[in-house]
Amino acid sequence: MGRQTVVQITCDRCRRVEHRATSEAMAPLKKGEEPHYMFSGTYKGDQVKFEDLCSGCESILDNHWAAMTKQLMKSSPIRRKGKG
Ligand SMILES: [Zn+2]
Repeated sequence: MGRQTVVQITCDRCRRVEHRATSEAMAPLKKGEEPHYMFSGTYKGDQVKFEDLCSGCESILDNHWAAMTKQLMKSSPIRRKGKG
């Protein structure tokens, strides 16, 4: 199929190395530039940040995120306030 420019990422969670097409990946950071995190969250002072995740870890995060947000949003008093 010819040649393709790829970016090598190292997973922040499991250290696995993967190659991504440049269209799917962030360009390497310029000096002093803030990284774009694939995931970042803070709860009760605990902070979790992943700049790059491999496809396996991304899929695990997708499932956890879907499960967590579904439950949280379902029972949110803020959302319920609007109804009724
Ligand atoms: Zn990983």
